[in-house]
Amino acid sequence: PLLGETLGQNLRRTVERHGDREALVVASQNYRVTWRQFWDATTEVARGLLALGVQKGDRVGLWSPNRFEWTVAQYALARTGAILVNLNPAYRTSELEYALNQAGVSVLLLAKGFRQTDYTAMLAEVRPRCAGLREALVLDSDWDRLVKVGAAVSVEALAEREASLQFDDPINIQYTSGTTGFPKGATLSHHNVLNNGFFVGEVLRYGPEDRVCIPVPFYHCFGMVMGNLACTSHGATMVIPGEAFEPLVVLQTVQAERCTSLYGVPTMFIAELDHPRFGEFDLTSLRTGIMAGSPCPVEVMKQVQSRMHMREVTICYGMTETSPVSTQNLLDDALDKRVSTVGRVHPHLEVKVVEPETGAVVPLGQPGELCTRGYSVMLGYWENAAATAAAVDRAGWMHTGDLATMDAEGYVKIVGRIKDMIIRGGENVYPREVEEFLHTHPDISEAQVIGVPSVKYGEEVMAWVRLKSGATLTAETLTAYCAGRISTFKIPRHWKFVDSFPMTVTGKVQKFRMREVSVAELGLGDAAS
Ligand code: ATP
Ligand code: MG
Repeated sequence: PLLGETLGQNLRRTVERHGDREALVVASQNYRVTWRQFWDATTEVARGLLALGVQKGDRVGLWSPNRFEWTVAQYALARTGAILVNLNPAYRTSELEYALNQAGVSVLLLAKGFRQTDYTAMLAEVRPRCAGLREALVLDSDWDRLVKVGAAVSVEALAEREASLQFDDPINIQYTSGTTGFPKGATLSHHNVLNNGFFVGEVLRYGPEDRVCIPVPFYHCFGMVMGNLACTSHGATMVIPGEAFEPLVVLQTVQAERCTSLYGVPTMFIAELDHPRFGEFDLTSLRTGIMAGSPCPVEVMKQVQSRMHMREVTICYGMTETSPVSTQNLLDDALDKRVSTVGRVHPHLEVKVVEPETGAVVPLGQPGELCTRGYSVMLGYWENAAATAAAVDRAGWMHTGDLATMDAEGYVKIVGRIKDMIIRGGENVYPREVEEFLHTHPDISEAQVIGVPSVKYGEEVMAWVRLKSGATLTAETLTAYCAGRISTFKIPRHWKFVDSFPMTVTGKVQKFRMREVSVAELGLGDAAS
């Protein structure tokens, strides 16, 4: 059954069952606590937040890379009834200002900075234009002060606040990744995220012996729901390698902490597998994990299973608006299904594939828009009823904007995003299919396919390719490799060799940026109009 409780109630049950086991390890901060210690830390911070006057429903921003303070604050905020607003560590001033004002953030918890960026200087710049922001606390210097002011608030006051919370209260405003454009703020409830995390953990058969390596950002649902919440609801240990993704640090952490599960978007797994020191590490403790967030090439899945020992690795599909997971492979699904599909619908949810224009369900095997319904669908986009109405229909179906097919057994394949589909001279080209094919070339490390304007065909296929080190492929040799193996209209007419791709901080390739760059470089501006 679905869990009918708040995040705080769920955490308390884990503390009661597994109190002395390890809860959270943050390798980069040398931080290591048991569930009981973790609970106490969230209590202290929750009292601090009450001392600051945080009310139920207040929006509190969290702007930091992965640190223990993030996870402690995540649960502390949930226990006060505040709405956590996840702010992307990569935000620059205009995005920060937008999110603070759009969500009406009154209290902001922020890191002093991240990499070369000084967050406090950026905040100082936008603050005059953020009238609603009354408090900003720097995690590096104000954390202890927060705990100290909290000491004046009684434990009973916190308990009283917790007793006033309902499981369907909003708990989170999560901005989408911005893969296709401007991020949108999905409002999620305790019920949405807690259950989704719980069922992800069920599918992966998490228990207190599991140690889950989470190198994906907390600000995104992949880290905070599929990572943190899946662990807390099953008593598994959250293992955080560092502030942001570094392939070498992940490999070191998995070995040192004997992790049983590892998460990543495909580009992260590729970076780990391709790391020159990969062979030095003992990864035999790994059993399972999740690859998600963007298309997962079959070749990469196979290597993760064999070379990283993740026999039970699964693919998930989901989106921020659905808390996030809608489909996932089961551990005992046949290998070919597990590597080539995103699995079947998650417990207590429904999915269907429809004709985008009419909404009619398409025949099995035919591509259409994937729709999801059930407990995980967001409450709505924060203060954007029009966008909500465009995404969630009256019957409660979330229209995902993704193209998918479903087979007779219910396995779903993601074909691509509607926005990314290429129409070349009237023929549909699914970038995913061409990418899968290019990944079969042994010298290609990563391939991303987009459509660029063409006067003759409307759109033309273009591939950006990152070669393995030492490889010497050219546009000609690659075109020859494609010839006779994929239909002529799918063969990329433009090739670009790159070392990296434009990406969101979650590691998702931003195809709209690839298109912008390519259109400018190829001088196709006129063809577009
Ligand atoms: P934005 O909505 O701002 O453009 P986004 O859609 O990337 O960004 P998220 O909510 O983080 O933001 O990502 C959800 C999307 O990621 C899905 O709609 C889908 O396109 C893609 N996705 C997620 N999992 C998979 C997967 N396993 N295979 C293919 N695509 C996936
Ligand atoms: Mg989206």
